[in-house]
Amino acid sequence: MDGIVIVIILALVVSIGLALLLSFASVALHVEEDPRLQDVTDLLPNQNCGLCGNPGCKAMAQSILDEDSRLSQCKPGDQEMRELIKEYLEEHPDESGEYVKVKM
Ligand code: SF4
Repeated sequence: MDGIVIVIILALVVSIGLALLLSFASVALHVEEDPRLQDVTDLLPNQNCGLCGNPGCKAMAQSILDEDSRLSQCKPGDQEMRELIKEYLEEHPDESGEYVKVKM
């Protein structure tokens, strides 16, 4: 019986220790994301089909922000979507005031 109690106490101590470690790591390793990334992702069709050559819409949004992809690479997207993303990026510079050069 004492053995079971010791095992339970050890499991609790290890669990609490790991929880504290994960909490510390999530704070210490937190990376600020460009707020435009989610906004541009939301403006894409979000079919995650990969037809644009990226592994999903969020990756495509990052590629647009990096000026590596053209908006026309998104095959399910229409002209209205492209215009909305272009207008959004023309109104939202990054932290340093730089605007994305949108490739249609
Ligand atoms: S082609 Fe368009 S809908 Fe498909 S993954 Fe790329 S951005 Fe998303």
